[in-house]
Amino acid sequence: MAAYKIIDHTYDVVVVGAGGAGLRATMGMGQAGFKTACITKVFPTRSHTVAAQGGIGAALGNMAEDNWKWHMYDTVKGSDWLGDQDAIEYMCREAVPAVHELEHFGVPFSRTDDGKIYQRPFGGHMSNFGEKPVQRACAAADRTGHAILHTLYQQCLKHSCEFFVEYFALDLIMENGACRGVVAWNLDDGTLHRFRAHQVVLATGGYGRTYFSCTSAHTCTGDGHGLIARAGLPLQDMEFIQFHPTGIYGSGCLITEGARGEGGYLTNSAGERFMERYAPSAKDLASRDVVSRAMTVEIREGRGVGKHKDHIYLHLEHLGAETLELRLPGISETSKIFAGVDVTKEPIPVLPTAHYNMGGIPTNLHGEVLNPTSDNPDATVPGLMAIGEAACVSVHGANRLGTNSLLDIVVFGRASALRAAEVLKPGTPHKPLPKDAGDLAVSRFDRLRNANGSQHTSEIRLAMQRTMQNDAAVFRTQESLAEGCKKIGEIASTLSQIKINDRSTVWNSDLVEALELENLMDCALTAMNSAEARQESRGAHAREDFPERSDAWMKHTLAWVDNGKVKLDYRPVHTYTLTDEVEYIKPQKRVY
Ligand SMILES: Cc1cc2nc3c(=O)[nH]c(=O)nc-3n(C[C@H](O)[C@H](O)[C@H](O)COP(=O)(O)OP(=O)(O)OC[C@H]3O[C@@H](n4cnc5c(N)ncnc54)[C@H](O)[C@@H]3O)c2cc1C
Repeated sequence: MAAYKIIDHTYDVVVVGAGGAGLRATMGMGQAGFKTACITKVFPTRSHTVAAQGGIGAALGNMAEDNWKWHMYDTVKGSDWLGDQDAIEYMCREAVPAVHELEHFGVPFSRTDDGKIYQRPFGGHMSNFGEKPVQRACAAADRTGHAILHTLYQQCLKHSCEFFVEYFALDLIMENGACRGVVAWNLDDGTLHRFRAHQVVLATGGYGRTYFSCTSAHTCTGDGHGLIARAGLPLQDMEFIQFHPTGIYGSGCLITEGARGEGGYLTNSAGERFMERYAPSAKDLASRDVVSRAMTVEIREGRGVGKHKDHIYLHLEHLGAETLELRLPGISETSKIFAGVDVTKEPIPVLPTAHYNMGGIPTNLHGEVLNPTSDNPDATVPGLMAIGEAACVSVHGANRLGTNSLLDIVVFGRASALRAAEVLKPGTPHKPLPKDAGDLAVSRFDRLRNANGSQHTSEIRLAMQRTMQNDAAVFRTQESLAEGCKKIGEIASTLSQIKINDRSTVWNSDLVEALELENLMDCALTAMNSAEARQESRGAHAREDFPERSDAWMKHTLAWVDNGKVKLDYRPVHTYTLTDEVEYIKPQKRVY
């Protein structure tokens, strides 16, 4: 590979990704005294976290009595008992100090009249173990992610962390089952870089772009997942994909659940507030899987709105211009731009839209990546961590509660740095890398750069996205999933016929998209095959042919990709808590 100029770097820790998870980890690593590099394909404050609107969940109790144990109960219930309760306990307990810490870092939260952090209602947030709704979502108007991301970036700069901006991570450097570093491409000057590190932390976000219509940024292409799959490691619970009830019809842009938290509601073509029928107690604030399914049923049964009766209305006009301006300014603007709607006067046309990936890279609650074996389902990969939406800890199980992702990214970003400080000393000398370190990454890069087949990246990507949209939708059947597996397999095989027009190494977006598509394809393959195998309905995975949740399926799916083929196995859900302050919450029938 002499044709490429390769530049070597050595760090204690390399974090890949500069969203909320990556920045919180980077900052913590810097604080702990590690020489830390953060590699990111977009400028840090352009990461998808910036788009998060509604809030971050923590039982601060600013609006009414609240308790982290109630938050834990709601999260376990929301996860439909697929979440690991030790990790859920950790997250909900740490939520309160984590939000106070953000406040001290400088996040400009909205305030109550007496100066406390403002908290709004959100789906599935209840007091006293499911009794009645509680206001738990800490919000900075409807721009909470924006406020958090900018603050964390400033904190990273304060701790002198080094940023490699517009560097694209290509592949991990693995040696005897341990991670030794990562290879990245500098988009700006075409050079390739080999980062040697004692600890690599993947914080690369989700894989929303496997779908045709999704709320996530174009950069959410499951790159970390691809790195893991190519390293021969498994992905976990990939079939669990959350559809957000309120993506704007047509564009997919998100209208936060906070809009319903502030009093918004949904109607069908008869003007009926139909959620009262499906979830008499929680109504429009039932958890996302429940609302998305109800909307889909309404549309299917002919009660959709609009010319094609294919969407639903979200009403905010009764809230009044003043509240909308104060609490929901961002979505008022988004609705004007993407739906041509003045929210003070008319309803917003909405549709369930792919929004969040519960599954991802399996980790323990310290962020350490798992490589389960038959003897030890919790075995870890030395030198490798994953956090944020890229990871599956698993705190969200089969369905994530709103506001628990911003929480997950800061709590586990922090946890990864705390763990690194326990197991690693700053400045520890490095072994030399193996002679061929990074060769696989460079040859993959070279192969794609010179690919001269017959199919354009955009054609293969569209075929994949349409298949996911149609066959791994809100409702699933054996028929749709079997067809989906066959189609995705065929589409994946066309990657060998990809054509790249631009052969340059500088700002070659054609090549970036092809590299991203390879990563997305591993996500689509594992998601579809994992979904086909799981013969039950749990959380976001709703099988019409298996409508009930089954105890036999209370296990995490593991999926490996080998030469375009998916191999599946399972590992047990943790049915224990972290401390004896709380008891394991046994599976219950869900009542809405
Ligand atoms: C529109 C929207 C609204 C949301 N609202 C909320 C909310 O109100 N509350 C809530 O809790 N959750 C919300 N979520 C979910 C939550 O925002 C995300 O799950 C979370 O922000 C993900 O953070 P992250 O740090 O894991 O990843 P991201 O913020 O997606 O960051 C990923 C990072 O990885 C980098 N990266 C990726 N691939 C590579 C590569 N190959 N090489 C180098 N760098 C790479 C990117 O540059 C980026 O910096 C929302 C999500 C969306 C889409």
